[in-house]
Amino acid sequence: MPNKIYLIKGDITKQNADAIVNAANSSLLGGGGVDGAIHRAGGPEILNECIRIRNRQGGCKTGEAVITGGGNLKTKYVIHTVGPVWNGGDKNEPQLLANAYRNALKLAIENGIHTISFPNISTGIYHFPKDLAAQIAIDTVKTFLNQHEEPLSVTFVCFDDENYALYESLLKEK
Ligand code: ADP
Repeated sequence: MPNKIYLIKGDITKQNADAIVNAANSSLLGGGGVDGAIHRAGGPEILNECIRIRNRQGGCKTGEAVITGGGNLKTKYVIHTVGPVWNGGDKNEPQLLANAYRNALKLAIENGIHTISFPNISTGIYHFPKDLAAQIAIDTVKTFLNQHEEPLSVTFVCFDDENYALYESLLKEK
């Protein structure tokens, strides 16, 4: 496992990284899963900022990312990115998932973030196959870190055993 990539099993709302990533939806108005958990734990400040962004630019497209403060969370920032809904696999889902990770990482660098935690984007309500999603997440993060000089540590925070086991074996492998 490269130095800068870590894996834990747990709740991303408890992380004290500089930024945590939210698997948001295009409306930016909150939802279920990790999105609901982040807004519940983070309080109304995060949602208010999301609403301001939505009013300014009309939400967030699939594969793109926006940044807000961390509200009541331990983290300074929340980076909201929108993963694709799995629709059989021939609707550009893999590329869109990679874009979601890449654009979140780009925003992190632009905002001087040194530690960032990701949930397993799209693998819940959006039904992206977990094994393929894990491969894309790891490959995209590794490639990004190799291409950037800035110090950035990435933690994958898996909520369920299946994702944790997949990440564990993929990170050991390479
Ligand atoms: P999506 O709509 O992108 O599929 P979900 O929130 O439904 O988003 O699921 C994404 C992943 O986040 C799933 O693997 C789910 O198990 C996980 N998850 C749900 N709650 C949390 C949490 N509190 N911390 C970390 N991961 C979570």
